[in-house]
Amino acid sequence: MKNNTLIIAGPCAAENRQQILTTAQELKKNKIKIMRASLWKPRTRPGFSGVGIAGLAWLLEAAELYNLTIATEVMLPEHVEQISDKIQKENLENTVNLILWLGSRNQNHLIQRAIVREIKSKLPQAKLMIKNQPWRDYQHWQGIIKHVLAEDFPKNNLLLCHRGFQPDQTNNQEKLRNKPDIPMMNRMRKEAQLPMIFDASHTAGNSKKVIETLSRLLDQGGKIDGYMVEVHPNTKTAKTDRQQQLNFQEFRKLLAEVRL
Ligand code: PEP
Ligand code: MN
Repeated sequence: MKNNTLIIAGPCAAENRQQILTTAQELKKNKIKIMRASLWKPRTRPGFSGVGIAGLAWLLEAAELYNLTIATEVMLPEHVEQISDKIQKENLENTVNLILWLGSRNQNHLIQRAIVREIKSKLPQAKLMIKNQPWRDYQHWQGIIKHVLAEDFPKNNLLLCHRGFQPDQTNNQEKLRNKPDIPMMNRMRKEAQLPMIFDASHTAGNSKKVIETLSRLLDQGGKIDGYMVEVHPNTKTAKTDRQQQLNFQEFRKLLAEVRL
């Protein structure tokens, strides 16, 4: 692993304090510096949709204990405000490192732009990661970036994330949840001049396929600056994306096998 490779790992969703602290300790053991965990989850059907802002206390505790950057999805400007309020209350404005992301399903540009304005005004130290939308369309993905930049968001604080596109089932031999488009990803990285993170979990869709999905991407010329993977201390009880989250053993295998 190169020193500047960005690896983002952690559970799909924050569920409880113990789950977050156990995962954070595992990340630290493996020299991983960025922990993901969603507080708010976009869900296809009603059900568990995240613990909300209550989970931020666990993430802040873990970040402080293990010196981690926190990465989480914000679906509404109010989420940014709630994160900012908590950070101010704890006097952590100058110490906490944050990556917030716009998720693939959040495709209302008015909401995207309102989120960006809220980050600029309330959490100017945060980085913003832009995921691609679920459907395959270069111009739409580029459009999200343009909307963000049109709000004068500092380019230095932006990252991109390729999480694949909803597959055409007649052309999905690997049976992935979302199919990467390597040429499109490479073109976007080059034209936007922004770091590209590859989401190996939401592409693979199954823990058994995460390593091969990431390795194949690299073998086939995918140019990335890092990757994101879901890791959970007890995958059997995971409340979301149970099939695709790696247990600690699988996570260590991935770190040992994938060279970036
Ligand atoms: C996620 O990373 O938690 C997520 C919901 O992924 P996506 O928006 O890419 O489906
Ligand atoms: Mn997930």
